[in-house]
Amino acid sequence: MIKESTLKVENAVLRETVGAGDYWMKVVKKSQTIRILDTQGNQAADTLFYNADDPAEHYSAMDTLREQGNVYLSAGSKLLSDAGNVMLSITADTCGRHDTLGGACATESNTVRYALEKRHMHACRDSWLKAVVEHPEFGLDKRDITHNINFFMNVPITPEGGLTFEDGISDAGKYVEMRAEINVIVLISNCPQLNNPCNAYNPTPVDLLIWD
Ligand SMILES: [Zn+2]
Repeated sequence: MIKESTLKVENAVLRETVGAGDYWMKVVKKSQTIRILDTQGNQAADTLFYNADDPAEHYSAMDTLREQGNVYLSAGSKLLSDAGNVMLSITADTCGRHDTLGGACATESNTVRYALEKRHMHACRDSWLKAVVEHPEFGLDKRDITHNINFFMNVPITPEGGLTFEDGISDAGKYVEMRAEINVIVLISNCPQLNNPCNAYNPTPVDLLIWD
């Protein structure tokens, strides 16, 4: 569902750019709003969420999809944890839908999906692992890397129930916005993927904005 934001960019308390292939990890406090802005279009932001006060609690794709009765995420979606708590609410979305079924790219899956010689290529799972190793203060480790949301990624379901990875439906300047309902650790891998059409084989920066 397309829903425009009512927030003004000049009132944001933070604005940062995350280059393609980089990660971004910060705590977004309860009642703050975070926007992920697709600056040039067709980028994928592979994102994990944790309860900042108890990082063992994390975003759960299956609980979120079951409770909303729909496989796509958009404005109105409530992002649930594995304990069934609402972590964030999507309050605005100019892209229209986001995937949480396709999983993140990894060196292993790149070899299976594309070709053996893709194994050396940088992948979102590498970025997440790098983030938790470089930031032990968040209390996360390798086993906390779990299911994620692929913001802006287009993974439509076929009438037979199949999953397909398709050309992106996002565009330059489209964004998704979420209000934190608890203190939440946000870990984003700005996808370096060069093998699938979701980002037009051209990874580009995303911007993160936060409002109090
Ligand atoms: Zn990726």
